[in-house]
Amino acid sequence: MKTLLKGGYVVSGGGTTQADVLLEGEKIAAVGPELPAADAQTVDCGGKLLFPGFIDAHTHFDLEVAGTITADDFATGTRAALRGGTTMVIDFAAPDKGETLARGLARWREKAEGRAACDYGFHMTIDDWNPGISREIGDMLDQGIPTFKMYMTYPAMMLPEEDMYRALKRLKEAGGLAGVHCENNGITSALAGEAKAAGRLSPASHPRTRPAPAEAAAVGHLLRMAQVADVPVIIVHLSARESLEEVRSARRRGQTVYVETCPHYLLLEDSVYDNPDFLEAAKYVCAPPLRKREDCEALWEALKNGEIQTVATDHCSFTLAQKRAGQYDFTKIPGGLPGVEHRAVLLYTCGVAAGRISAEDMCGVLSENPAKLYGCWPQKGVIAPGSDADIVVFDPAAEGRITAEDQSQNVDYTPYEGIQTRGAVERVYLRGVLAAEDGRMFRTTGRFVHRKLV
Ligand code: MN
Repeated sequence: MKTLLKGGYVVSGGGTTQADVLLEGEKIAAVGPELPAADAQTVDCGGKLLFPGFIDAHTHFDLEVAGTITADDFATGTRAALRGGTTMVIDFAAPDKGETLARGLARWREKAEGRAACDYGFHMTIDDWNPGISREIGDMLDQGIPTFKMYMTYPAMMLPEEDMYRALKRLKEAGGLAGVHCENNGITSALAGEAKAAGRLSPASHPRTRPAPAEAAAVGHLLRMAQVADVPVIIVHLSARESLEEVRSARRRGQTVYVETCPHYLLLEDSVYDNPDFLEAAKYVCAPPLRKREDCEALWEALKNGEIQTVATDHCSFTLAQKRAGQYDFTKIPGGLPGVEHRAVLLYTCGVAAGRISAEDMCGVLSENPAKLYGCWPQKGVIAPGSDADIVVFDPAAEGRITAEDQSQNVDYTPYEGIQTRGAVERVYLRGVLAAEDGRMFRTTGRFVHRKLV
């Protein structure tokens, strides 16, 4: 089957050019002016931007958190992703303590296989360290899992510092790369204890017990460990201006540091936690928490100047009923926000249309950089001959509004309710197959992507 996308503007991280794009089977066959259209189905893309399919390198589908399971599984989450232009997600395989990485990976592959509508990969969570896990790191790379996740908070997940250092060294030796959740657990635990003892149990305590300096402390600490181990690291979901300062210091020392942020840290502010209506506040609970306007501005600035490489969602959805578990204790609110469906339109609306970043910057942080950083370039992340025919036809002139009623993700609210949007995802192709058009979905089958760092 051949499809010719005619007359659109092909966007890459480095520039935009008007060109036709010929899709043949699962691949892009040709990109260039006035391509011959014989035996291809022609789609007029005049005035449209053509982006390489977006990659969301931070999602949590079908994950058990605090005795409940995320509202989105791989079926609903990946459909929502596609509807918003995301053709590949990288989720987190999370073995139980004591379980082998192999068993954890097998469980996650079972959750996704036959259910995922878009392509997918996994990062492997390291929440335990022993000789067996150390030996398994190489097996993970062989199986297309070159990236790993570690936590500096959450007692059930975090590694002792000595083990974290050992893990960083082992990843260096094996050629893997770690993304780390940075919040200083000592500070956050002590503050939560103080809040509880004082009877301050509402969601208003959430941001106050996880302040920006606690994140910056962990970022600084991690980066010093990485300096000693002599390894690059990824700071996932960086939210605070102070944390960027730690990153800058490390880069000035000559270290390689990659930074991811999320739409909610760019767009939303911590004043939402002060809403006296429990659910109105609880629905924004995530870690790290939302920050202040000046943090949002610092993140936009860092996106613009290339200090932040990727924007992912950390999609981890819970319904309002699930959020209610923390009605009498903010520490029991399941943490996480939905967002996998709206990332691109939000970045276009509040970034490109608002003049903060360019369409090329958007392509960089949503497609090109994650493909390169996470080891699936040039199969993904670029519109070029030989690459997977994952294409987003984006209408920059469309306008709309985000509402929970209109969304496909399996949750009864969106943190972006009512936002007036500029631009819209018009058509999405997954390996040459039309997956979505004007919000309508067609059946597609996602495939595991074997990643390898270069
Ligand atoms: Mn996460």
